[in-house]
Amino acid sequence: MSKMSASNLKLLQPSPPQDGLACRATDGALSIKTVGKIYDPEGVHVEALRDCSLEIAAGEFVAIVGPSGCGKSTLLNIIAGFDNLTSGEILLDGCPLATTNTSPSPGPERVVVFQQGALFPWKTVIENVTYGPVVQGVMSRAEAIQRAREMLSRVGLKDIESSYPGQLSSGMQRRVEIIRALINNPKVLLLDEPFRAMDTVTKSASHQYLLELYSATGKTIFFITHDLEEAIFLADKVMVMTTRPGYIKKTLAVKLPRPRQYAMLAAPEFIAMKADLVGAVHEEAVKAFEAGEREMA
Ligand code: ADP
Repeated sequence: MSKMSASNLKLLQPSPPQDGLACRATDGALSIKTVGKIYDPEGVHVEALRDCSLEIAAGEFVAIVGPSGCGKSTLLNIIAGFDNLTSGEILLDGCPLATTNTSPSPGPERVVVFQQGALFPWKTVIENVTYGPVVQGVMSRAEAIQRAREMLSRVGLKDIESSYPGQLSSGMQRRVEIIRALINNPKVLLLDEPFRAMDTVTKSASHQYLLELYSATGKTIFFITHDLEEAIFLADKVMVMTTRPGYIKKTLAVKLPRPRQYAMLAAPEFIAMKADLVGAVHEEAVKAFEAGEREMA
């Protein structure tokens, strides 16, 4: 546990939460230990990950960058329980989450938000957000609606609860999805390039809202991106993966204070960190290109 004193945490753990958001997390530490992943070991034999190890403390925001095809989504899918690993293990708060002896299994403590979006188009915003906790019997419909309204208003979406996803901009849709993920009070939020296709203005507004939710909930965040500025601006640590088979080649601790401000993008230390990452990622992108991977970072 990295960020708060034990007494602060105790004060911040009333249950259920009062403001519709979870209290700052006291758990959600991920240990990824020498993970290997081979797709189709008997056939095409694509080695996506090899001896990939990283530690993410509870409540830490970690961004993963690296060339396309280096294994970022593979790692996320294994953490999410969508796919199995070939070697190594992943622990959540010290308990086995994925091992070579267990079948992949998604769970409520890890939720994923993807780039392409996954809202039910035939349901309204409020129906989308409340669907999970109501269907799982975790909350009554009235309680879920109240929670959803509080959370939506925190990210500027108070007036669109009766809209359908098709009536919303991509930025609004992604905010709704993140709220839908957080209402289930997971330990870990897994984000796979959620803002990739957005224009600059929408992206920067989305950053602000995500940071607001991060600061309010203190969830562990595992965030995949190609955008190095985005990675530095949002994260506590940026980890660079090697070209396939992927493992963590470099970890950059982002020393910028929170709350993050856009003026920080022009600060000399920000520019220095970006230059450092550009060098590390470029080196891997060149290797990926030489190895015939499909796309550069
Ligand atoms: P990234 O997210 O970094 O772009 P991925 O994790 O999607 O990379 O993919 C890593 C490597 O594994 C790539 O070479 C990709 O083509 C390969 N791969 C991903 N999924 C499969 C699969 N189901 N079967 C075979 N190869 C796969």
